[in-house]
Amino acid sequence: MRPRSRKSRILGLLPSWLVTTRLPARGRRLFLTFDDGPDPEHTPRVLDLLGQHGAKASFFLVGDQAVRHPGIVRRIVAEGHAIGNHSWSHPLMTSLPLSEQLHEIDRTDEALAAFDGRKRHLFRPPSGALPFKLLLHFARERRTLAYWSYDSHDYARLPAQALLPKIRSRPPRAGDVVLMHDDNRETTEVLARLLPEWTRQGYVVQAMPAPVPRRAEVEGA
Ligand SMILES: [Zn+2]
Repeated sequence: MRPRSRKSRILGLLPSWLVTTRLPARGRRLFLTFDDGPDPEHTPRVLDLLGQHGAKASFFLVGDQAVRHPGIVRRIVAEGHAIGNHSWSHPLMTSLPLSEQLHEIDRTDEALAAFDGRKRHLFRPPSGALPFKLLLHFARERRTLAYWSYDSHDYARLPAQALLPKIRSRPPRAGDVVLMHDDNRETTEVLARLLPEWTRQGYVVQAMPAPVPRRAEVEGA
C-alpha cells in the first residue's frame, strides 16, 4: 500500500487554495475525510465513532444520495462536521463534457446548501479524475478542489485485520488529509481501532476548513 501517491504529490505543487492536498501541521491536526456517502447503514456508525472520540470530519457527499437520505445529512451537520461536494451521480469527470461536469457540481452544491446554508462547497472529483478544463474553471472561479495527502486504501475492501497493519506501518502525520469511505463495514472497523490510537498519540482529528467565500458572496452581490 502506498498512502502517498505521486499524483497527490504533483497536485500538491499547485496553490493550495486551488488544490488542497495537505494542510498546515500546526496543532498536530489530522484532517479526516469520507467519500461516497451518505450511506444509511455505515454513515451513522461512523458518526457514532467520531462522537465517541470527540473527532470531526468532512463528508464528501454524492448529491443524489444526500437527497435520498436527508436525515443522515442533517445529523452530519448538526454534529459539527463539514459536508463537501462529491458530484451528483459519481461519474468519472474525464468521461463528461465540461457542461455536464459543471451540472453535476452545481446541482450538488444547491442540494447541500439546503443543509448547511453554504452556496459553495469544497469539491472532490470522483476517483480523483480531474480534466484540465475543470481545473481551469476552478482557477477562474477561485474555487477549491479538495484532494488528500494520505490514502487509507479502505476501498480495497481488505478485512480490517489486514488493512490495520498497513496503515499502522505507514501512518498519517500531522497536516495530512486522510481519505476514507463511509460506505462499508471495513472502514468502520478500522476507524474504531485507529481513532483511540490517534487520540493517544496527541492528534486532533478535524474537518477540512470551509472554503473562503468570494468577496461578491460576502457582500451579497
Ligand atoms: Zn468517490
